[in-house]
Amino acid sequence: MDRPGADDDRLCEWMVRHRRVFALTGAGCSTASGIPDYRDDRGEWKRRPPVMIQAFRTQEAVYRRYWARAYAGWPRLTAAAPNAAHRAFAAWEAAGTLLHIVTQNVDRLHQRAGSRAVIDLHGRLDVVVCLSCGARTDREALQAVMTADNPGWHASAMTAPDGDADIDASSVQSFTAPRCHACGGLVKPDVVFFGENVPPDRYAQTREALAGADALLVAGSSLMVYSGFRFVRLAHDAGLPIAIVNRGRTRGDDLAGLKIEGDVGSTLADAVVAIA
Ligand SMILES: [Zn+2]
Repeated sequence: MDRPGADDDRLCEWMVRHRRVFALTGAGCSTASGIPDYRDDRGEWKRRPPVMIQAFRTQEAVYRRYWARAYAGWPRLTAAAPNAAHRAFAAWEAAGTLLHIVTQNVDRLHQRAGSRAVIDLHGRLDVVVCLSCGARTDREALQAVMTADNPGWHASAMTAPDGDADIDASSVQSFTAPRCHACGGLVKPDVVFFGENVPPDRYAQTREALAGADALLVAGSSLMVYSGFRFVRLAHDAGLPIAIVNRGRTRGDDLAGLKIEGDVGSTLADAVVAIA
């Protein structure tokens, strides 16, 4: 029978044993901050899958719908604050035995909690890049441009149980999507879309970080996206101990020596208190 707290002890003991940990974090670290996860406990899509890069580049309706939704969702996203999971990682890094955080999240909440050695594997939502000329824009500034380009526009949004918003078709049609201020090209948040690869230099930087690690912790990810999962495979091939903290099953469960089912924030917070 499970004893309350037994899982936390195991994670704490695991943390104490390793001095150069590489952590891979995912959506489950940010859900408590009000940022919805795409997948359920079994790793299946909860909602419409995210936009594919090919459709975004080539179909105006997809491009417009993406930006209408992003525009409507931005205030909620910027209101999100770091939670117990982010604070635990920052405290662990400060304690000196967490060397790298590689996050699949694009919300920058690890950095806002005080973590420094963070690789944004899938990029960051607060920067926008032009697909034609490469010009980079602050996302907040682009929000102001969209407001000016869409006077009086309000999405008729139906909020789903997980907080994501679907916007009806007529609202999307009346939305003026942004273009590059320099060349008029299509713009996209500086994040890796589905169908895109992690940029090679970032992948190399992450490989290097993993090469210097003595253990891998996965937190809040089902590892369904290969760009994250491959680092678990590499760690396993290199013989590194692997621990996973996640609510629900993950693709890496068979490779982990320690798997803890539970809330990422409280599990990590309890374990880190003991080592920090
Ligand atoms: Zn441009």
